[in-house]
Amino acid sequence: MVNYKNHSEKLQKLKSGELSLEDNVKFFLSEIDKNKKLNAFNFVFSDFALEQAKTVQGKIKNNTNGKLAGMVVAIKDVLSLKDKPTACSSKILKDYIAVYTSTAVQKLIDEDAIIIGKTNCDEFAMGSSNENSAFGAVLNPVDNQRVPGGSSGGSAVAVAAGLCDVSLGTDTGGSIRQPASFCGVYGLKPTYSRVSRYGLTAFASSFDSIGPFSHSVEDAAKVLEVISGKDEKDSTSLNVEVPNYSAELTNIDKKYKIGIPKEYFGEGLNEEIKKAIEDVVAKLKSSGFEIVDINLPHNEYTIATYYILTTAEASSNLARYDGARYGFRSNDAATLLDMYNNSRSEGFGKEVKRRIMLGTYVLSAGYYDAYYKKAQKARRLIKNDFDLAFKNVDLIIAPASPTLPFKIGEKSEDPLEMYLGDIYTTSANLAGIPGISVPVANSEEGLPIGMQILANQFDELKLLKTSYFIQNEILKNN
Ligand code: GLN
Repeated sequence: MVNYKNHSEKLQKLKSGELSLEDNVKFFLSEIDKNKKLNAFNFVFSDFALEQAKTVQGKIKNNTNGKLAGMVVAIKDVLSLKDKPTACSSKILKDYIAVYTSTAVQKLIDEDAIIIGKTNCDEFAMGSSNENSAFGAVLNPVDNQRVPGGSSGGSAVAVAAGLCDVSLGTDTGGSIRQPASFCGVYGLKPTYSRVSRYGLTAFASSFDSIGPFSHSVEDAAKVLEVISGKDEKDSTSLNVEVPNYSAELTNIDKKYKIGIPKEYFGEGLNEEIKKAIEDVVAKLKSSGFEIVDINLPHNEYTIATYYILTTAEASSNLARYDGARYGFRSNDAATLLDMYNNSRSEGFGKEVKRRIMLGTYVLSAGYYDAYYKKAQKARRLIKNDFDLAFKNVDLIIAPASPTLPFKIGEKSEDPLEMYLGDIYTTSANLAGIPGISVPVANSEEGLPIGMQILANQFDELKLLKTSYFIQNEILKNN
C-alpha cells in the first residue's frame, strides 16, 4: 500500500526520510509482478527504474530535485523512450527499439519522474476496449471479466490497480477519458497542440493528444504543467502560456457556468450513469455553480465524421510500416511487392487493417469529395457548435461513455457497436478542446462511473479547478 494521497505528500515523505524511493519502486515492481494477469504492461524496466530511483533519491537529499521527483510513471506503448521498445501493441513493431525519446516523456524525466515501463493498449491506439492488442487483452481490475476501456487500457489499469503513481495515455477519440471512466481514475485529455506529439507514434495527426491518468486532480495538474508547451520538434504545438496549474488549482471559483447538452443525455445512455451525473450536477448547483441547458445540434454526425477523418489520416500515417524500414518483415516473399504486401498482411491486426482499408477508400479519387471533404465540413460544424456554446458557458458536463465497462468479447465481433460507444468522446477531438473524466460513482454492481467535463481550447485550468472542487467538496461528503 502507498501511504500518500498525491505526489506532493509523497515528496514530503521522501524528503523527511519517512519513505525510501528505492523501496517504493520495488513495491510497484512487485505489484506489477503480482498483477501480471491484468496484462497492463508490455514492457517493465526494473533495472532502469531502480537506477533512476537511486539517482533521484540522491537529488532529493541534496535539494536539487525536479518538480516530479520520485513520481513513478508508466507510459503508453505508443510513446517512445530511447533504447527501449516501442511496439504500439503491434506485431509489426514487436522488436522495434526507439532511437529517440518523445518530448512529453523527456519532460517528465527532466523533472525527475521515474519511468517504470510501457503499458499495453489497442494496436496503434485503435480501439475502445484494449482487446485489439498483439500482446493480448487487458483486464479491468474491478471485474476481471470486463474490459478496462481503450485504447489506453493498460495506462488506466496501471494507475487503478496501484502499479504506479501516474501514467501517460493518448486520446484521439476518447482513449484517455473512456478507460479512466471504466477504471475509476482521473483521465485528462489536453487541448490539441497543448502537448508536443514528437515521439508519439501517429494514429490521426490532427486528433492525437497526450495526457495523464491519476488518482488525484493534483497529480493530473502537475503532470500537465510539466508536459505542456511549445516544442520546436512539433510544428503543431502552440506557443500559449502554460499556467501553473497545480498552484492555482485550489483557488476555487464557484461561479462557473456549466452547460448540459441535451443531445448527450438521450436514448442509449445507461440509467445509472445518467443518475450519477445528475446527482453531481445537482450538488454543483447547490454549491453555487450555474447550470444551464445547451444544444450541440451536430452531435449526431460525430461518429461518422470521426471515423472517416481518423481512418483517412491513419491510412496515410501507417503507410510507413512496409517491412523495409521498421520492425517485422515477412520471410515469405519472392518479390519486393510481395514483401510489402506480406509484411503488412501478417504484421497488422484485424482492426488496424480495417481502418487502413476504410481510410484508403474515403480518400480514393472517386469518393474523396463524398466522404473526406464532406467530413471536413462536418468537423467545422461540430467545432462551431462548441464555439457557440462556450460564448455562453465556461464548461460542459457530459457522460464519458454510454455504457458501464462491458464484458470481454461482448462487442468484439461488431465493430459498429464498438464505434458507437465513442459517441460522447470523439467530439472533443474533432473540436480540439480539452476534457477530463472524473470518477464520480460506482454502479450497483460496483463498476466505476466517470463524468466528463469539457472546456474551451486552453481552458484546462477551469477543468482542473472544477474537478478539484468535485473531488474535495462533493465526493468526500458522499
Ligand atoms: N475508440 C476510439 C477509436 O477506436 C478512440 C481511440 C483513441 O482515442 N486512440 O478510434
